Amino acid sequence: MADRDGFIWFDGKLVPWRDAQVHVLTHTLHYGMGVFEGVRAYNTGTDEAPKTAIFKLKEHTRRLFESAHIMGMKIPFTQDEINAAHISVVRENKLKSAYFRPLAFYGSEAMGLRATGLTVRVSVAAWEWPAYMGQEALERGIVVRTSSFTRHHVNITMTRAKATGSYSNSMLALQEALSAGADEALLLDPEGYVAEGSGENIFIVRDGVLYTPEVTSCLNGITRATLITLAHDLGFEVIEKRLTRDEVYIADEAFFTGTAAEVTPIREVDGRQIGAGTRGPITAQLQQLYFDTVAGKNPKHQDWLTYV
Ligand code: PMP
Repeated sequence: MADRDGFIWFDGKLVPWRDAQVHVLTHTLHYGMGVFEGVRAYNTGTDEAPKTAIFKLKEHTRRLFESAHIMGMKIPFTQDEINAAHISVVRENKLKSAYFRPLAFYGSEAMGLRATGLTVRVSVAAWEWPAYMGQEALERGIVVRTSSFTRHHVNITMTRAKATGSYSNSMLALQEALSAGADEALLLDPEGYVAEGSGENIFIVRDGVLYTPEVTSCLNGITRATLITLAHDLGFEVIEKRLTRDEVYIADEAFFTGTAAEVTPIREVDGRQIGAGTRGPITAQLQQLYFDTVAGKNPKHQDWLTYV
């Protein structure tokens, strides 16, 4: 990732990609106290005449600042400046579509948990990143295993914050799922109810109704909110409630949502086929509407797009 041409927005300036470096004593590298986002931009035009639009940019930047606020970190830029940084990295890197990684972290001025006087450094990088789990996953669905690692308790890490340190839990769960031959992990909350994937929220469908866990242990996903709105637009009922893993087993359909994962159908959980064992019809309908919406083809939600 580090060795490529292009520019990264770093502490208020565009710097050559290879020069966007930090010291090994960078505080956040040691204790995982940092916050970040994952944002996508889609080409709403054609290959010859690209028209790039960032999806829900303001919502992502707001969550970045809220994550920082929760962690007690003061980002030394305004939300407007961070939004502008996203636009500048698309332009400078001549990207038609993009995945963005905004990150706020503590510098290397001091070490130790009691360190004071740390600067908050902010970067926004962007690059082309196609389907997170591959095109086949979007069409056929993926195989999921319930994790032996529990998702965070609301009073252990702050679950509303998208904080770097929280992701060791995600990586442990994902490593375990992958080594068991699955594509993704399903994490349960400390009370044993369904929380989310390692980097996605989960929905199930039963008798035409959508269900998704309340936002307690899981991240308050922006794609989750998008899907709830789109499901309502299509006339579906969406119920936010505690879900058990056996409710997932007997669902007619299930899918994950996330900026990276988009809308990824789930075809199997813990060796049990979900529904027909392929992308279900309601999942397919919602997935299509999601891809149309991010591509600028949904007149109802143009306000979700920031054209570059
Ligand atoms: N849960 C976790 C743990 C995540 O990392 C993500 C990705 N940010 C999500 C859910 C989905 O969130 P969003 O739709 O905002 O990308």
